[in-house]
Amino acid sequence: MNPPISLAGVAPIDCRTAVARLWDFLDEELDAIRLAEVEAHVALCARCAEHYRFARAFLDAVSESWQEIPDTTQLRERVVETLTRQGFRDGR
Ligand SMILES: [Zn+2]
Repeated sequence: MNPPISLAGVAPIDCRTAVARLWDFLDEELDAIRLAEVEAHVALCARCAEHYRFARAFLDAVSESWQEIPDTTQLRERVVETLTRQGFRDGR
């Protein structure tokens, strides 16, 4: 469905590397090549794609709640609540 991505110069990376870089990726702290490696991996790997969606939703929930809730316990509850509403489980 999607057009093939040009992967010239992009090395395949494993799940551990992809997840480790994921958070930097979401913080937009990766350079273009490392970003492309993560994107290429996430495009092919369902497990990391799921992790990616979670991480993105998590960061959105945190950044939305951060300014209004300075208390970290309440912030955590708000984040968990937001993620649960979006269909993510809290890992239990
Ligand atoms: Zn993976």
